[in-house]
Amino acid sequence: MIKSSWFKILPLALLALLPAPQLLANEGSIAFVGAIIIDGTGADPIENGVLVVTNGRIRSVGPATAVTVPDDAETVDVRGKTIMPGLINAHGHVGGTLGLERDHYNTDNLLRQLSLYARYGITTVNSLGGDEEEGFALRDAQLNADLDRARLFVAGAVISGNTPDEVRDAVNRAADLGANYIKTRVDDNLGRTPKPTPEVFEAIIDQAHIRRLPVAVHLYYLDDAKAVLKAGADLIAHSIRDEQVDQELINLINEKGVCYVPTLTREISTFIYESEPDFFSDPFFLKEVDPQVLEELRSPERQSQLRNSASAQQYKIALEVAMDNVGALSDAGVAIAMGTDSGPPARFQGYFEHMEIWLMVQAGMSEMEAIHAATGKAAECMNMSDLGTLEPGKWGDFIVLDENPLDDIENTRTIESVWVAGNQVPSP
Ligand SMILES: [Zn+2]
Repeated sequence: MIKSSWFKILPLALLALLPAPQLLANEGSIAFVGAIIIDGTGADPIENGVLVVTNGRIRSVGPATAVTVPDDAETVDVRGKTIMPGLINAHGHVGGTLGLERDHYNTDNLLRQLSLYARYGITTVNSLGGDEEEGFALRDAQLNADLDRARLFVAGAVISGNTPDEVRDAVNRAADLGANYIKTRVDDNLGRTPKPTPEVFEAIIDQAHIRRLPVAVHLYYLDDAKAVLKAGADLIAHSIRDEQVDQELINLINEKGVCYVPTLTREISTFIYESEPDFFSDPFFLKEVDPQVLEELRSPERQSQLRNSASAQQYKIALEVAMDNVGALSDAGVAIAMGTDSGPPARFQGYFEHMEIWLMVQAGMSEMEAIHAATGKAAECMNMSDLGTLEPGKWGDFIVLDENPLDDIENTRTIESVWVAGNQVPSP
């Protein structure tokens, strides 16, 4: 039976005559009662579910008939709503961008962006490069039940260099700082810059593994994907965009249990501002965007520059290849984790993750597959053992939605509230 907090249903005047509600006596239990619950494991949703969070972590979850709500819990009536885990962005960047400028890395900017992500329901961000001391400090401070912004994991500086010795030193520096991931790039930026040699990227992967750290690789070409997988790469951090994936790639990625992060919105960001994008009139976008940024992106000079940019036009074609490859890899059973490469200028943190999930469905994944890729599967890919699913013992990071995203994936945008460690993420 659904139980309401007694003090919530009393008129205010009467409440004033009673002793103060004993919120502290319940050790912080909150029960969310009556929603459809998508638990992030890929399992069928729970109808009329109950989710109980105690001291920041999930105490119990299941159908109302199977979960006992603690007597002293505060209850929240979420009948008609859908609860799903907070989204995990497996490839973001945090702290550097202000407006359309880079190089503004500091604690205030990190916290501003982590709150922005959280308001959009992205409760964990795996930052793959550009992370400095302040980011590591916030990562270290987040294992507490008072948290109400997105969690951050960090890679430190992107590893690059000309010789194996140089890159081994760079890996050691990131590892000594306490990086969660090592990030490197094996790419020539559409032929414009030199690509690292195999001996260099093999040294990066080897040294990272000596330091017991996984390696995420930025890449573009199918051949490079095969080469880095053979060298032991642990995460493909972007789509393969030069040609269709083949069976050899599928076998390599599946045999090694490597996850693939499509970052389809990264391609979108390279060309979409050549004219006014549809999302510039989406209230879900407009509620957080800086009007100054919008104005700059609307400038005719900027638009025509992009229309005449060979790389922007090339990446537009690359998006089509990337979309085909996401569909093919998903069909082949490859583990896909949602990631956007959001954070750099005009890659909008929060909004782009919802666009990414929608694009994954356009590419052929089912709604449930896309949700799984953005929650439990992403956590598995990142070795985040206490995040990503709504199961006992995990952190209470979740979104309450007005509409069910299994009916229409765009319903991930119908956010009623976001919770991190059982704390409601505040409005700005
Ligand atoms: Zn990136």
